Amino acid sequence: MAVNPKTQAAVERGLRRFDLLRTSELEALSNLHSDKSLIISVYLAVPLSEKKNAELRSKFNQFVSEQKQALRQVSKEKTQQFEAEAQRLMSWLEHEYDGTGRGLAIFSSLPNQLWHAYRLPQAVRDQFIVTDRPYLRPLLTLMDEYERYLTLLVNAETARLFMLYMGEIEEYSEFQDELVPRPKRAGANVEDKLERHHEMHVLWHIKHAVEEAERIWRRDQADWLVIGGTADPLGQLREHLPKAMLERLAGQVSVAVEAPIAQVLAAVLRVEQVNEQRMESKHVDALLTAALGKGPGVLGLDDTLNAIVEGRVMMLVVEEDFRQPGSECPNDHMLFARQPDVTELMETCPLCGTPLDPQEDIVERAIERALEQDAEIEVVRGEMRQTLAARGHIGALLRYNSETAPAEAGGKISTR
Ligand SMILES: [Zn+2]
Repeated sequence: MAVNPKTQAAVERGLRRFDLLRTSELEALSNLHSDKSLIISVYLAVPLSEKKNAELRSKFNQFVSEQKQALRQVSKEKTQQFEAEAQRLMSWLEHEYDGTGRGLAIFSSLPNQLWHAYRLPQAVRDQFIVTDRPYLRPLLTLMDEYERYLTLLVNAETARLFMLYMGEIEEYSEFQDELVPRPKRAGANVEDKLERHHEMHVLWHIKHAVEEAERIWRRDQADWLVIGGTADPLGQLREHLPKAMLERLAGQVSVAVEAPIAQVLAAVLRVEQVNEQRMESKHVDALLTAALGKGPGVLGLDDTLNAIVEGRVMMLVVEEDFRQPGSECPNDHMLFARQPDVTELMETCPLCGTPLDPQEDIVERAIERALEQDAEIEVVRGEMRQTLAARGHIGALLRYNSETAPAEAGGKISTR
């Protein structure tokens, strides 16, 4: 009996509304490069309307016809490949896509046996890129905004590991170490011995759990740790966690090891929320202290864009959903925001006279450019939003450089 692919996909994803972006998959994608054939990257914002599937398909068709026109002048072979890719993409949109997620990222290349379709938790700018490698920047931006919470639940004999990411939780492995029962009735000496034996096994199990957690922590580059389970081994667990993980302990949940996954998810989401609020407040406070005092910080879009162009951003702090049109100079990479009292975008660069690339959303470009200089990104969603909005919606904590490092800052001066 044929299984409806939509149903099949829903079963495989369980309760999830999005697809998890795996670091390993993205790494494989970023290593992919093809001289001979096309690699198609499609990003689509999912419309909120009821006819979203129809709207998606019409956006997609528009892209396809534009692209076909452009390719016809290049090569017949590539046009043929493109037509086959477009057909496969359309068929996925029509028959397999279940309408979930707020954005889509799809990578396709038949000759390279490449197919990945991600339903994303956030809207992305519509883009259709046909080139020799997957275009990953929007995905990398998204990944950088969300943090991974590794969760370890333990009792005396069982351990479970989960990863919370982008509002979804996934279980990794469940393992059980053989438990030597506590002694019930025996002579005093024997009892002591058995008791020690029991404790040895619990200890061994805890160490095993920590080992496994550490392996996944590193492999999947988790940002935060959450622990939970029964009280007794939890104390031991804390003792055996490596310092690097203990420093990133976001919280403890009182959830039984055998709890259903939905219960684990709810508990870890609460920890995440509290932790995110705490970090947001910390970062917005640090930004205001720096920018309004004498520290290295800027507030407002214009100054932030300048700091990005100068390559000085250590952390970009931006209000969620803050967008503004602007332009970028392809020659000297200057970034310009459209001034609030001006309706037209600047056409040429005031520095070098080169025609500017218009940007629908200069904030998105700012985030991408900040990521290129290894800056951290803090998207402010919680109660600090108003505070940041009142100060220009966006700002940046800057790296010290020789010109800005105050002489009296003792010990903090960069020696470069
Ligand atoms: Zn320029």
